[in-house]
Amino acid sequence: MNPRILYIEDNEQNLYLVTFLLKTKGYEVLQAQESREGIDMATREKPDLILLDIQLPSMDGYTVARLLRGNPDLAKTPIVALTSYAMPGDREKALASGCTGYIEKPINPDTFLNQIATYMKTDMAREQAL
Ligand code: MN
Repeated sequence: MNPRILYIEDNEQNLYLVTFLLKTKGYEVLQAQESREGIDMATREKPDLILLDIQLPSMDGYTVARLLRGNPDLAKTPIVALTSYAMPGDREKALASGCTGYIEKPINPDTFLNQIATYMKTDMAREQAL
C-alpha cells in the first residue's frame, strides 16, 4: 500500500499544488481544510505523515500539533509544519508544539519531495530504533 499523507491546509492553491506533487510520487493524499476536521481525520485514518499548515482559521497549527501529539496512536507519526519564510519564530514554535520538522512556504517544487522523503525515512529509522 502506498504511504498516506494527511495535508491540513486552508489555502486552495497550496492544497492543489502540494497534492499534485505528492501524487506524482505515488503518495495517497488525504485533505482537510479545517483544523478540527484534520484532527478527526488523523485520529480515524492514522496517516503515515501529517503535513500541517500553521496559519489556519479557527485553531492554529501549533494547537493542532499539540492535540495530535496527545493521541498515543499518533505519537510517532511525523508531523511536518508548513511555516512561512518571513516568520522565523514559527519554526521554533512548531518544534516546541511537537512537530517533527518544518518546510518553508512558499514550497520549492524542486526540493519538496526530497524533504518529504527525508521525514518519511526519519520516522522509519526511529521505528527501527524503538
Ligand atoms: Mn493557511
